[in-house]
Amino acid sequence: MKNDEPTVGRRAVLRTAVFLGVAAASGLLSVSGEEGAPGPGPGSGTGPQAGPQAGPGAQPAAGAPGLRAQALPEKSYRLRPMTAEQPMRPAAVKPAVRTRPILELPADAAASGAMVLTFDDGPDPRYTPAILDTLARYGVRAMFFVCGEMADENRDLLRRMAAEGHIIGNHTWTHPLIPQLSRPALASEIGRTSEVVHQAVGEAPLWFRAPYGAWNRAAFEIGAELGMEPLAWTVDTLDWKEPGTTTIISRVLGGAAPGVIVLSHDAGGNRSQSVQAISSYLPQLLARGYRMTLPTLPPR
Ligand SMILES: [Zn+2]
Repeated sequence: MKNDEPTVGRRAVLRTAVFLGVAAASGLLSVSGEEGAPGPGPGSGTGPQAGPQAGPGAQPAAGAPGLRAQALPEKSYRLRPMTAEQPMRPAAVKPAVRTRPILELPADAAASGAMVLTFDDGPDPRYTPAILDTLARYGVRAMFFVCGEMADENRDLLRRMAAEGHIIGNHTWTHPLIPQLSRPALASEIGRTSEVVHQAVGEAPLWFRAPYGAWNRAAFEIGAELGMEPLAWTVDTLDWKEPGTTTIISRVLGGAAPGVIVLSHDAGGNRSQSVQAISSYLPQLLARGYRMTLPTLPPR
């Protein structure tokens, strides 16, 4: 998201989620064992400078946990009422707790020229619809890592994403720098976002992405508890810096390769360049023989 922009302008007030009335289960999301940096809370001015830790081309495949092609599992869990201490009911079938996010598609998918387009921070009614239009024009599906506070106010766009076959991922509620959060605060950020998506489209996200690419152990653990795999990216367009449409296009085309996951943004600032860019690079990628696809979940 505003990958390195401060979260200025974002509504800080978090609404109480509407709960589904499912009985609270065990407190599997322990509030102890916090390993986040003890520093200041979210909103401190230092966050944005941290930058993505899994940036462009970062740690390519070597030793990366692999994804394997597999059918999506059945809906893996239902939700429970959330509070700061008791965010959501853990997934019935949990993925393994990873120690690093997935950065690219597995070799078998890459072999067929597959790539993934991802858009973070939305949905934003100023930009997201145009991106969806372009994706629809070419029959391409993509991933949208949404922020809860944006998603809550734009549920129609969530429903459109789902209806058109895109994957909705969890990008926290307010786009904080995760290592600065207490574990309960992080659990709430993630859990409430999943809750909103579940309410809007009937399914909670199965993928999670840390703002700024700043992951920590709590993020991996909480994400897994809620049934989500952590997905980073291979190529960062840095479109949030508004480098110019041509630059964004050249970054995508220059970084294109089998298995690549591309990071762009449909919110968090003026994303006109991002909107313009996809209308150019998408048909060019397809003309080069790439297949825009969606990742499949690893075995659970
Ligand atoms: Zn983001």
